[in-house]
Parts: sequence; C-alpha cells; structure tokens
Amino acid sequence: MSSVRVVARIRPLLKNEIDKDTIVAAESPDGEETSNPTIVRIPNPKNDAESFSFQFNSVYEQEATQQQLFESEVSPLVKHLFNGFDVCVFAYGCTGTGKTHTMRGGKSLADRGVIPRLLSNVYRKCRKIEKDTAGATQVEVAMSYYEIYCDRVYDLFEAPDKRTPSGLPIRDNNGKTVVVGLTEKPCSTLKEFEHLYDQANINRSTSATKLNAHSSRSHAILCVKITQTTEDTVRVSRVSAIDLAGSEDNRRTDNNKERLVESSAINKSLFVLAQCVEAISKKQSRIPYRESKMTRILSLGQNNGLTVMILNLAPVRSYHLDTLSSLNFANRTKKIEVSEVENETVYRNVAKPLAATTHFSGTNITRQ
Ligand code: ADP
Ligand code: MG
Repeated sequence: MSSVRVVARIRPLLKNEIDKDTIVAAESPDGEETSNPTIVRIPNPKNDAESFSFQFNSVYEQEATQQQLFESEVSPLVKHLFNGFDVCVFAYGCTGTGKTHTMRGGKSLADRGVIPRLLSNVYRKCRKIEKDTAGATQVEVAMSYYEIYCDRVYDLFEAPDKRTPSGLPIRDNNGKTVVVGLTEKPCSTLKEFEHLYDQANINRSTSATKLNAHSSRSHAILCVKITQTTEDTVRVSRVSAIDLAGSEDNRRTDNNKERLVESSAINKSLFVLAQCVEAISKKQSRIPYRESKMTRILSLGQNNGLTVMILNLAPVRSYHLDTLSSLNFANRTKKIEVSEVENETVYRNVAKPLAATTHFSGTNITRQ
C-alpha cells in the first residue's frame, strides 16, 4: 500500500498581478532555505496575523520549471507503468492556477507540460525495450481522450457538433470503470501522439468558445494504454493524466442561471470527489464513488496503482478562500492509501488457464 502522493505547485505571478500581494509561501520543515520545501503557508483569512500551514510530499515554488516538476514527480512513474502498474497523475485547483499549463503546457520545448514529456519518455522506453529484447517484446501505445462535462462523457476525438448530447455510457469491467464506445487510437510515435492530442484539444477548445469557458468547467482525461507483447505473454497497463475542472466555488462569483446549472454539476463531481476523499481518509466502509462519473472513473484509492496529485495554487490574495479550500482538500487526499495492483500478465500459451478468455480482449485482469 502507498498513499496518494500530493505535491503543491505555486504558479508565478501573471503580468497583471505584479503589484498584487503574494500570500502563499513555500517553506522547508527545518527552515533551511537550501532544502526542498514541503510546506505551504497561508494567512488565516479572518486574521492576517495568524497563518495555516499544510505539509505535502513536495512543494514547487514559483520559479520551478516544467522540467523539474516532471523529472521529480512524473518521470519515476514510467518504470512502474512498464512493470505493469496503472499510474495516474491529476491536476487539482481553481481556474487560473496553472492546471492546463502543468499538464499540457506551452509549445516551446522548455514549456512543455507533464503530458508531452511523459509520452516522450514512454516512447523512449518502448524503443529501449524493443532494442534490449532484440524485438522479442513488442510495445504498442494507444490513446483515448475524453472530457466529462455536466456529468456527461464526451469523446474528444469527436467534433463537438457530432457528439451525442447525452454522452457516452460508462460501466464496470473487471472492477475497472470503462467508457463504452470511446475511440482508441493507436499512436506509435511521439509525432503521431502529438498530432492526435493537438487535434483533440482543438475539439475541447471549440466547445470552449461556444460554451463560455467550457474548458475550465470540464474534466479532461487522457488515457494512454501500453501493451507489451512477447511470444507467450500480453501485459497491459495504463497511464491516466487528468486536468480537472476548476475547483472554485462558482456560487460566489456567478449567479447567471445557465452557468449555475453548469457549475452545480461541476461542483457536484468535485464535491463528490471531496466526499470520497473524506470517506477514504476516515476509512469509512461506504465510499460514494458512484455518485458522479468523474469519481467512478478516477476511483481514487481503488484500483489506481500509483497516483500523483498536483495541487495547483495561485499565490495572490484574490484566490485566498479558494486556495484554502484546495489546501484542505489536498490535505485529506494525501491520507488516501492506494493498493499497487500489478496488472496480470496474460499468457498466450493455451495450456495456461487465463489464455482462452483474455488473450485477445486486451483488458486488464487485476489480482484480487
Ligand atoms: P488553469 O488550467 O488551472 O485554469 P492555466 O494553466 O490556464 O490555469 O494557467 C493560467 C495562466 O497562468 C496561463 O496564462 C498560464 O500560461 C499561466 N501559468 C500557469 N502556471 C504557470 C507557470 N508555472 N509558469 C508560467 N506561467 C504559468
Ligand atoms: Mg485549464
């Protein structure tokens, strides 16, 4: 068992914030400036003389680069992925705190976020395995990419005007939640992946202009499936990279009716997520996963294997209350234990009992 690894990332001040009050600070436990910070300190909104501190696995300060965050937090997951574990990285935080910047990032090499860097490492590892085994192990990579908006699941490979308004159904398959009818595209090179990923992101942003900053209100879920095949075995594992909807309390900022319907659906899934986290951290027997699609899919603490949560924070006072509520949420999340369940290798040799039913289906069989 291991806990969900929770790391906080404080974004730099934006151009229009330069003269603003910075209220979120990173600290090291021993007070040494040279050591790595693990504490976030923030004033008590009711009394500036007091402050609250929150401890995480690591805290990244304003000047931390995309490369540093990736190398320390995400790159180590690649080994586990190829050893047959599912891994999950998700970004949580209010709109404007840097979730999309962290996960997707900008176009320049230095600005690339977690997702393109992760895929770059995955392909490098694929080539290495194929080389080291002299081609005896073949690795296939396939991706699906979808969003959950108002508790409906939409395939991001489908143009917004071609979508079924009610979205795609989800169901349980061997203890894992799957989206039924989701497009899965093979992508054997980084170039192919980037092309498909960019295309799908255009579908996401097209709905953004139509639907009023839709992207901050939807959860975007990228799932990359790795299939390692030898003459005798097939091993499947998955990495999920999730850019969650903004966690701000929309009720405070917005009372337009249509957007309220939207935001209550978003708030509901994040609210259910918070309830799940609360229930898991208190070791309650009933975890309300099933009450929203996002929590069913995320299944935190169920089958996830290794999970890293990146808590994105803005350093300025205008986010004060939302930052505090994000910190409280993250504080509970870090107590969640996940079982690292290795996906079973499926033997292709018919003499082995598993082969007949599972060999060609490509589904994961998890050990109970
Ligand atoms: P979110 O997805 O959480 O709504 P964004 O990723 O869109 O937030 O970030 C909001 C703004 O802050 C964007 O203009 C983004 O480029 C900028 N930003 C966020 N994080 C960083 C960072 N670490 N370095 C530089 N700019 C950042
Ligand atoms: Mg975003």
